[in-house]
Amino acid sequence: MSKTISINAGSSSLKWQLYQMPEEKVLAKGLIERIGKEDAISTVKFDDQNVSETLAIKDHTAAVKILLDDLIHLGIIKSYDEITGVGHRVVAGGTYFNESVLVDSEEVIEKVEELALLAPLHNKANAAGIRAFKEILPDITSVVVFDTAFHTTMPEVAYRYPLPNKYFTENKIRKYGAHGTSHYYVAHEAAKVLGKPIAELKLITAHMGNGVSLTAVDSGKSVDTSMGFTPLGGVMMGTRTGDLDPAIIPYLMDNTDDFKTPEDIRRIFNHESGLLGISGLSNDMREIETATKNGDKDASLAYAMFVDRIVKHIGAYAAVMNGVDAIVFTAGIGENDAHIREEIIKHFSWIGADIVAERNEVRPAYGVVSSDDAKVKVLVIPTDEELVIARDVERLKVK
Ligand code: ADP
Repeated sequence: MSKTISINAGSSSLKWQLYQMPEEKVLAKGLIERIGKEDAISTVKFDDQNVSETLAIKDHTAAVKILLDDLIHLGIIKSYDEITGVGHRVVAGGTYFNESVLVDSEEVIEKVEELALLAPLHNKANAAGIRAFKEILPDITSVVVFDTAFHTTMPEVAYRYPLPNKYFTENKIRKYGAHGTSHYYVAHEAAKVLGKPIAELKLITAHMGNGVSLTAVDSGKSVDTSMGFTPLGGVMMGTRTGDLDPAIIPYLMDNTDDFKTPEDIRRIFNHESGLLGISGLSNDMREIETATKNGDKDASLAYAMFVDRIVKHIGAYAAVMNGVDAIVFTAGIGENDAHIREEIIKHFSWIGADIVAERNEVRPAYGVVSSDDAKVKVLVIPTDEELVIARDVERLKVK
């Protein structure tokens, strides 16, 4: 019997899920928030229970100790020895990592830290999570799974930016993408649901959560994705701009007092824009839709812009692949929001996509929501990044 834990460490949070492997049974899951604060919160969900405590948690190592002790106190495990593997989600793998790897040397962790240049908040936190587990459970299988790995199959024509070459060769400026684990998982699940080998399919996967990205998946390989050098690029998101005319940056630096430092640009573009920036109300799609129904013009514009950017990417990717067999929706908005799926798919009747209300409006929707004879199928597939991580730990386990 082996138990594997999937870890998704943020700058002040640690999301985890404990599996019985190889059965892939979820034994417990939880979230530790406000790491570094006196009033951090640890929540554990298992069976039908939901246990929450508020306590001071100094850093990620302390958070890992609390999580493991919680597992013992709550009777989910009897001793640390039962945990034989840990998998860490890492946002940026750069050009170093095109697949998941074992953390079998200090060098692997140092590379994750070095790649913090590409994902400053994320990779530092990911590395802190890896180090915390290494300190407490040094002998278990430790694996890193990269959000960018699935996109390393993109052709150069898609991943290069039209800048002078030296910024690519010297500064490594190129498209890396993100959400790769999710796009990989839902593309493979969609192929299963469609009953076809993934090698015969052209898919467009739309991961729509707080972060939003779309990927063109041709024969199981990512050939283009909307996020770019960082997860700020691509479509409009909850609080992120997505793509902008780059000339806006120097213009705002010259003409306003808000853009004085690179940090100002990062903050405003990452945290104050998107649905929140346009609506002036919220980054939460549910609130945007409620406000839209109540006649709020800014919320209504935010919603329409969000749909517009997604529609444009789907259209572009269908052209890139010279066709599309299915459009796959996933993540918080993609899985739960029947209305937005309908609004998006309305734009693709010309290529033979449709939506059947009785299939689309079932909660939770799963599988094909288009008609049986639709030329382009539409699917809803709940993403499961944690499971992909647990499977990679199992696959790479030191036997
Ligand atoms: P994260 O990227 O943080 O993992 P999620 O995948 O959980 O985010 O997605 C969060 C988004 O999903 C929020 O914008 C939230 O409003 C949206 N969402 C969740 N449930 C619904 C729903 N029933 N209808 C519309 N949007 C929803």
